[in-house]
Amino acid sequence: MTVRTRVAPSPTGDPHVGTAYTALFNYCFARKSGGQFLLRIEDTDQARSNPRSMQAILDSLHWLGLEWDEGPDVGGDYGPYQQSLRTDIYRQHADQLLEQGHAFRCYCTPERLADLRSQQKASVRTGYDGHCLNLSPAERAELESAGTAFVIRLRVPDEGICRVEDLLRGGIEIDWRSVDMQILVKQDSMPTYHLANVVDDHLMRISHVIRGEEWISSAPKHILLYNYFGWTPPSFCHMPLLRNPDKSKLSKRRNPTSILYYQRMGFLPETLLNYLGLMAWSMPDGEEKFPLDAMVDQFDLTRISLGGPVFDTKKLTWLNGRWIREALTDEQFAGRVESWALNRDYLMKIVPLVKERVSVLSELGTLASFFVSGDLNLTAEDFQDRKVPIEVIRKSFKRVLEELETLGDWNKDAIAEMFKKSAEASEIKLRDYLRPFYVAVAGSSKSTPLFDSMEILGKDLCRVRLRDALRLVG
Ligand code: GLU
Repeated sequence: MTVRTRVAPSPTGDPHVGTAYTALFNYCFARKSGGQFLLRIEDTDQARSNPRSMQAILDSLHWLGLEWDEGPDVGGDYGPYQQSLRTDIYRQHADQLLEQGHAFRCYCTPERLADLRSQQKASVRTGYDGHCLNLSPAERAELESAGTAFVIRLRVPDEGICRVEDLLRGGIEIDWRSVDMQILVKQDSMPTYHLANVVDDHLMRISHVIRGEEWISSAPKHILLYNYFGWTPPSFCHMPLLRNPDKSKLSKRRNPTSILYYQRMGFLPETLLNYLGLMAWSMPDGEEKFPLDAMVDQFDLTRISLGGPVFDTKKLTWLNGRWIREALTDEQFAGRVESWALNRDYLMKIVPLVKERVSVLSELGTLASFFVSGDLNLTAEDFQDRKVPIEVIRKSFKRVLEELETLGDWNKDAIAEMFKKSAEASEIKLRDYLRPFYVAVAGSSKSTPLFDSMEILGKDLCRVRLRDALRLVG
C-alpha cells in the first residue's frame, strides 16, 4: 500500500501553528514511508472561509519548507484540492446516501431545534432527536410540495458501541447514543466538514489520517460514512493537542498562535519546525536540536508521546538562539536578516507610511524600528498622559483587547471602526483615546498612523504588545 497523508486546514483566519504541527507529522510519516503528502483546503464553510487566509496558509507552509506533492497550487491526479471546487462530487455522494436510507432530510426549523436544545439541557441525551426520521410519507410530501428548506442528516445507530482504532491509543470505544445525527449537507446545499472530509480522503486515496485529537469524537461519524459508502476507512492517528504553559489548550489569548507572528518576530523556519517536532516526539538520541531531514530519517509513529505537549515561546526562543549560533554562517545570518528585515513585500507596506515623514533616511531607525522589533521595552512612565488618567487607559486596553477578538478581518478599516466605537463608548475624544495605543503598539505617540501600522504588524503581534502594555499600567 502506498502511504498517502494530508493536512486539511480550513482557511478561516491566520495560519495556525497547530496546522504546521499536523502538517509536519503528516509530512515526516509520508516521506519516511516513501509515500505522498497532500495539502487540501477545506473551505466549505463559505461564511468563515476567505481567499486571503488560504493564500497565507500556502505561503507559511512553503516558508516552513513542508513541500507537498499534491495541492491547490501544484495540482495532482486527484484534484481539485480545494473543497469549494468539488461541490458536485459531494452532492452526488449525499444523494447516494439519501437513496440508500443512510441519510435523511430534516425540515426542522431553527425554533424547534432551539426548543429541543433547551429541553435537553438537563438530560444526558443531547443532539437531534430524530423527529424528521419519523415523518409519515404524507407529511413528507406536504413539506416537499411547500418547498420547505431542509438539511441532510446522517442516520446513526440507536445503540451499540463504535470502536475507533487509533494508531496511538489502540481501540477507543464510543457509545453510538452519544453520536449526533450530524448535518451532512446544509440548507444552502453546501456539505459540512464531515461529509466532504470523508469523501475526499477516500477519493484522494489517503491511507493515514493524522490530525488533532479534537477530532476523535467525530471519528464514529466518519467510520459510519465509510461503511455506508462501502469503503475501507484509512488508519487514524490523533495527535495530542498543543497546550499553553498552564496546560490549557493552546489559545491565542495566552500565546501567539499565528505562524505569521513567529515569522515577523524573526524565528527561523527551521526552528519552528524543530520545536513543533519536539512537541510530541523526540529523537532516539535525545538531541533537541534537529533539522527536518533528520526527523524524517528517524521518524516512527510509535515514538509519538501522548502527554499534553506545551508550546512555550521561551523555549522556542532559546532553541532559535541555538539555531542562529550553531547552524548559520555569518554569510547565511546576513542573508536571513536581509530577507527578514529588508523583505521587499514587508518594506513596501511600510514605505507609504514612512516616506511622508522623513527628510533623511537615517530618521527611519527611530520612526520605523517598531516594525522590526519584538518587545518594545516600555515602562509604566511611558503611559503617563496629560489628559487620560491611567485607570481609563487600563480600561481602554482591556476593552480593545476584547474587541480585537470579534474582528473578522484584520484590516485598517475594521481596526479604525473598532477604535471609533470604543472611544465613543468611553466618551473620550478619539485623538486622546488613541494616544496610549500608539505608545503600546509603536512605542511612541508620534509614529506612523496607528490603524495602518496595526494592520501591517498583524493581529497576534498587536495583541502581544497590548497585553504587555496592560501589564505595565495594571
Ligand atoms: N478542516 C479540518 C481542520 O481544520 C481538518 C480536520 C481533519 O484533518 O480531518 O482541522
